[in-house]
Amino acid sequence: MNKIEKTNEEWKQELTPEQYRVLRESGTEAPFTGEYTSLDKDGTYRCAACGNQLFASDNKFESGCGWPSFDDVANSEAIETRPDTSHGMQREEVICARCGGHLGHVFPDGPKDTTELRYCINSVALDFKPKNQS
Ligand SMILES: [Zn+2]
Repeated sequence: MNKIEKTNEEWKQELTPEQYRVLRESGTEAPFTGEYTSLDKDGTYRCAACGNQLFASDNKFESGCGWPSFDDVANSEAIETRPDTSHGMQREEVICARCGGHLGHVFPDGPKDTTELRYCINSVALDFKPKNQS
């Protein structure tokens, strides 16, 4: 995968302040505020910063946690994970493999009948493309 590297100044010009805070500064949107939290439409979710295809609506499920939740990624090479021990917690951070943007975290409490994973992703880091639209 071709990596995208930009300076903070370049990202600031391309992203909204909230996108920048989440994607580039590992921020978190307030729960139940994101535009995709309860979205239940067919389509794909791409990285808001670089357009990398990250998740499919087929893998979205209602977790009740307040953020869009997925039990799997669209493509295992689309994301990377790394340990995050900030805020006194042991979490696994999810980042976009192409641009390095912070997307959210993955937790081992997802659906038991599938992957048992819950990718808990900030809406503001995603760009939803409805099916049949490019
Ligand atoms: Zn990206």
